[in-house]
Amino acid sequence: MALETTPDMATTYLSSLDLAKILQTPFVNEAFIDFSVADNKRAMLEALAEVGTELGREYDLVIGGNRLKTAGKIISTNPARPGQVVGIHQRAGAEHAAEAMAAAQKAFQSWSRVPVVERAELLLRASAMIRERRFEFCAWLTYEVGKNWAEADADVGETIDFLEFYAREAMRLDKATTPIQLPGERNQLRYIPLGVGAVIPPWNFPFAIMAGMTVAAVVCGNTVILKPSMDATTIAARFMNVLEEAGMPDGVVNLCAGVGPEFGSAIVAHPQTRFIAFTGSKAVGLEIHEQAAKTQVGQIFIKRTILEMGGKDSIIVDADGDLDAAVEGVAASAFGFNGQKCSACSRAIVDASVYEAFCERLQERIAELKVGDPAANFAAGPVINEKAYEKVLGYIAIGKEEGVLLNGGAAIETAEGGYYIAPTVFKDVAPTARIAQEEIFGPVLAVIKSHSFDEALAIANNTEYGLTGAIYSKSREKLDRASEEFQVGNLYLNRKCTGAMVGAHPFGGFNMSGTDSKAGGPDYLLLFTQAKSIAEKIGRASAKAEKQEEKMGI
Ligand code: NAD
Repeated sequence: MALETTPDMATTYLSSLDLAKILQTPFVNEAFIDFSVADNKRAMLEALAEVGTELGREYDLVIGGNRLKTAGKIISTNPARPGQVVGIHQRAGAEHAAEAMAAAQKAFQSWSRVPVVERAELLLRASAMIRERRFEFCAWLTYEVGKNWAEADADVGETIDFLEFYAREAMRLDKATTPIQLPGERNQLRYIPLGVGAVIPPWNFPFAIMAGMTVAAVVCGNTVILKPSMDATTIAARFMNVLEEAGMPDGVVNLCAGVGPEFGSAIVAHPQTRFIAFTGSKAVGLEIHEQAAKTQVGQIFIKRTILEMGGKDSIIVDADGDLDAAVEGVAASAFGFNGQKCSACSRAIVDASVYEAFCERLQERIAELKVGDPAANFAAGPVINEKAYEKVLGYIAIGKEEGVLLNGGAAIETAEGGYYIAPTVFKDVAPTARIAQEEIFGPVLAVIKSHSFDEALAIANNTEYGLTGAIYSKSREKLDRASEEFQVGNLYLNRKCTGAMVGAHPFGGFNMSGTDSKAGGPDYLLLFTQAKSIAEKIGRASAKAEKQEEKMGI
């Protein structure tokens, strides 16, 4: 394991890779680290110790390759120990938007003309560096957002997957052709970049989503102003270092830590921002949508928005479903990373005939979850910050009015003041109750009774969201009906509703869950391009072809 590489070491290592050859190999998902293996456990503990010595460092804005300091700062802290500073970041204000835009526009002039293979190779170099330093990045995620080892590793693995997948996808897109070649013409279809984009990620997959949206834009030839989440700014700064070490030219990505309604809003509104790639809450997504739709003075295009937002995800447990598998699936989906996934199960809709048995087994299973410091690899950790802590506790108070408490229901106090909340389950919750309708984004699950499969499907579809969902059933007919009628962007049959894999489960939601962009899928890069059709007359077309052209009115 290499914890830190100097630029020299990185260059030597990278030059030993045959990138052109790697680009031609099929994409394969990165394997997860097995932390029960002694060497891996030791490597993770070493990485935590090593990264622990780097906590509290200061990071600059990076605009056009220049490092800038600001008077205001953003302090990123460890949610398990809020007194521990993970990174101190400069705070871009609205006044930095013009500077970042100018740098990104300048870089766009050359980056958009760099051959796609070179842009794809940048992604492969970055991916190779992250793979080399995998434990180190896991440790940063553990400290900055409170992920336990497996959750941190899944985030790092997905980051590598996005880099590898989009590098290959860009090559594929570059080979696009028109479905028809007219006689006497050379017909081309080129997917060209859009321009400068604002990339605005959330804190909960602070590496994979932040890096994924950024490199999808960049590999297509766009340049980017990246405004990371205030709760996860350090991991973005570390990623910026990787891109720079991997040879990214100045100004292609401009890293501007900032407050959403200040700097974030300013780049969304900027007349030269061609597109906005956002992942986050429904409220902010809708605000961005509205703001981007307003034409600014000097704006010469319609801004494109790629918006992935919240969820209120359900798992249906049918009368004939495998109850043990369903309990496991619900427990993992609801309480993995403390319910702080957009795909997290927050509603279990259980058939009346198995309802009591399910509740009993689920209660036992959740009682086994040990809560504690993610650095010590506890199953359940803290929620991200004080605001989230108060919000989730508020919903628990509402849940006590709306349902019957099975597990948890309270905060857990620690000497370090971490934002811990016990994994909480309510049963006998009405389908229209607030805790069954509103995104809580914490370790709270509502169990709802259904009396028929029709009713279960109706309940599953009764929110404004439509992100993920799952069903446990042995009936082919019911699985097929769910495939038709369960209105979510990502549906899972007889498995949990979290853990989408790049390539296999293109990810994005319906309705108020977003624009269904399908990250990690074959259509994703199209969102970062515009298609240009070019027709060239080559020699004299045959009389028949000319007649055909005439008929078509071309
Ligand atoms: P958030 O909406 O609070 O913030 C997301 C980003 O938007 C942050 O970088 C924030 O600084 C920025 N922002 C806030 N106000 C802004 C404004 N007015 N203008 C521009 N930018 C602004 O979300 P969060 O708390 O970081 O993340 C959790 C949310 O993200 C949950 O709702 C979750 O469901 C959702 N999420 C969705 C997906 C998905 O793929 N659909 C994936 C992960 C998370």
